[in-house]
Amino acid sequence: MTALIPPRLRNDTFAMPQGVTWVPVAEALDRLRAALHPVTGTEDVAVACAMGRVLAAPATARRSNPPLPNSAVDGYGFAHAATGDGVQRLPLAEGRSAAGQPFDGVLPQGQALRILTGAVLPEGVDTVVLEEDCATDGQTLAFDGPIKPRANTRKAGEDVAQGEQALPAGRMLSPADLALLTALGVAQVTVHRRLRVAVLSTGTELIPDPALPAAPHQIYDANRPMLLSLLAGWGFQPVDLGHALDEPDQIAALLDRGAAEADAILTSGGASAGDEDHVSKLLGDSGTLTSWRIAIKPGRPLALAMWQGVPVFGLPGNPVAALTCALIFARPALLTLSGAGWRLPQGYTVPAAFQKRKKAGRREYLRARLNEGGAVEVFQSEGSGRISGLSWATGLVELPDEACDIAPGDPVRFLPYGSFGVSFGG
Ligand code: AMP
Ligand code: MG
Repeated sequence: MTALIPPRLRNDTFAMPQGVTWVPVAEALDRLRAALHPVTGTEDVAVACAMGRVLAAPATARRSNPPLPNSAVDGYGFAHAATGDGVQRLPLAEGRSAAGQPFDGVLPQGQALRILTGAVLPEGVDTVVLEEDCATDGQTLAFDGPIKPRANTRKAGEDVAQGEQALPAGRMLSPADLALLTALGVAQVTVHRRLRVAVLSTGTELIPDPALPAAPHQIYDANRPMLLSLLAGWGFQPVDLGHALDEPDQIAALLDRGAAEADAILTSGGASAGDEDHVSKLLGDSGTLTSWRIAIKPGRPLALAMWQGVPVFGLPGNPVAALTCALIFARPALLTLSGAGWRLPQGYTVPAAFQKRKKAGRREYLRARLNEGGAVEVFQSEGSGRISGLSWATGLVELPDEACDIAPGDPVRFLPYGSFGVSFGG
């Protein structure tokens, strides 16, 4: 099968209409969703190796589950038509039917046969009585009637029938999906090629590796290990571009590499409009930058641009803002590029264990975690430099765009980290 290569994104992918100033989060998400489409080709992989991969075509059952009618319990099988009310006594036939060892023959009407869980129902058996409900001397079987027709049996294909769609295109395969496909005789699936996502940190103050010495005015690059591992957890193929000083030539060279080696690029730092914000300057000069002034805290600004046909998500340098923007914006965007489709996190309404007054005009995300009583606490400081709060939290509380005055016990929306398709913290 030849791999399909979808069209590249257009250079004006991230264009905003003139005059737009502050974009609400919901509108920014709608715009991103409308602008993006899958960019990966496809490949065939063995089901056993397909965990986390995204189906590019529906998977169809090659055989039924179960393939033949079988017994759901250990017991005795017979034809229901020969039984009635009251104590039933049936002669036991020779032999038995066990899983993988079917009974070779037809059971005469009025007789019973030993049958075990998962064993095929022989011809002449449509009903099974549970072993615990029977008495037997090895010659005769006795149990109390009536018994329901087809009791304790499974019909062929009652789970999934041969030829039925087992899973739709766009499905991100789970361990349970691998069990389902394998049971249905599916050995190979056509999946989207893994989305390759490059990560670049920018900042003259950064030291790339905590094993290296750092002068007091320097800081370690905290964003890169965070973003690379986040991407790997989402099933993408991370591409480490390392780190660039705040120098346009260095950033440009690494963006070139990213565009050659990846399907999308995440940068962090240098995305605002300051003197040393070379990422946004450079992307501006390349002619395809839109700085989306999104009404969100933390996380402004988000620079979106195309670099040699590859989308660039310019995240803020602050680790708290970088992670928030990655979870809220980059995740659904990258999932769309990967073929998995647009996905927003599933939130839960829980009582607040905090107090907060907030003005109208922007959406806010607070580092939060559930306490033992099921109420949600927030980190004591909203300072966006406090990485320890990200680590303390098990998710985010989302406060709406409107003004609100929250008192303990009021309902708030909690988004566990797990609802962003990753499991960490706590
Ligand atoms: P910027 O967005 O470049 O203005 O950076 C905002 C803040 O985040 C500054 O205090 C930077 O030093 C810090 N910062 C930028 N990149 C990183 C990084 N990779 N790791 C840790 N802190 C960073
Ligand atoms: Mg900077």
